[in-house]
Amino acid sequence: MKNSFAVTVLPGDGIGLEVTPAALTVANEALKKTGGPALHFDEHAIGAGAYLETGTDFSDEAKASCEKSDAIYLGAAGLPHVRKADGTEIIPQVDLRFLLNLYAGVRPTRAIPGVPTPLASPRAADINFVLVRESTEGLFYSIGRGTVEDDKIARDYMVITRDVTERVTAFAFEEARRRAHARPTVAIIDKANVFVSFAFMRKVFDEVAQKYPDVATERLYVDASTLSFLSRPWDFDVLVTENMFGDILSDLAAGLVGGMGYAPSADIGDNHAVFQPAHGSAPDIAGTGKANPTAAILSAALMLDWLGTRHEVPSMVDASTLIHRAVDSAFETGALLTCELGGMSGVREVTNGVLNALKSEHG
Ligand code: ATP
Repeated sequence: MKNSFAVTVLPGDGIGLEVTPAALTVANEALKKTGGPALHFDEHAIGAGAYLETGTDFSDEAKASCEKSDAIYLGAAGLPHVRKADGTEIIPQVDLRFLLNLYAGVRPTRAIPGVPTPLASPRAADINFVLVRESTEGLFYSIGRGTVEDDKIARDYMVITRDVTERVTAFAFEEARRRAHARPTVAIIDKANVFVSFAFMRKVFDEVAQKYPDVATERLYVDASTLSFLSRPWDFDVLVTENMFGDILSDLAAGLVGGMGYAPSADIGDNHAVFQPAHGSAPDIAGTGKANPTAAILSAALMLDWLGTRHEVPSMVDASTLIHRAVDSAFETGALLTCELGGMSGVREVTNGVLNALKSEHG
């Protein structure tokens, strides 16, 4: 059994620099409790800060480290006022998805006891679903390919391929099996009634679904799905959707469980995976200590779960479970209230709360 793992660490910009050490400290503490393997960190500067300092936002060394490590942990990259010469934003996190073919953007969405949700229904406490966002094509395929003609017409275009749709859909079905929800279900979210690309995506989804007769299916149009996100999100198990729709819906999902500071994410391919909080660098609160590190901590837990499952190391999967339990106990008492929800608990308070809760968990 593998007893150490190499993790490329890319803290990035803004609050990425603040929440990354918090998340990695919690991961190390949890592994200590379960007697798990050591993590060896190889840290690189990426993003807007690196671009200003060195002229490149994602160095060859950082890319090489990502390609050879067991997993990648990213804080947040990019700052709105720092742009490349062509006016585009610095988004190495998106480049990484294309570079390593990370087609499955996994956004687990779970109500944490003690963290208020904007929904009045008591059933909101049961929100627990995973949104799988295809992350390498869809409308984002057009990045760097869009055109503006004569200052009169702008065009971007969307691409859906059979290969990637089969893979991301199969990923969603496997995830539903793994979660073993009371009624495992995969719902596709598309606009198949209007666009041929989405009709094609749904056809491929239907074909893949036939290989998973034990998993129920649902088909939602994206507009109607936003209503379901508000009226019955507790019914969702696994959702799979196109890149742009996933980009939008994942922020809606985060809002249901307290905000961006509670939304972990992973971008997973066949050979590599990047774990990062779903939020950006939040320049408005960077440097104030106000950032909520929960999404970053839960992303580290996702990383341990992915590594432990892939390499069959139960102590890593157990460490991930411990982190989830510690986050729940830290918030359950109501002692922590983060800035998105009008409170003052920031990186230090939340990290200490989770570390204290971890101490009383049984490894
Ligand atoms: P990106 O485009 O890089 O995803 P963004 O501009 O959409 O980023 P964020 O940087 O995620 O947005 O910030 C959106 C809002 O959410 C900001 O007001 C920010 O302060 C808040 N926010 C984001 N992350 C956190 C966090 N971890 N804790 C508290 N507030 C946060």
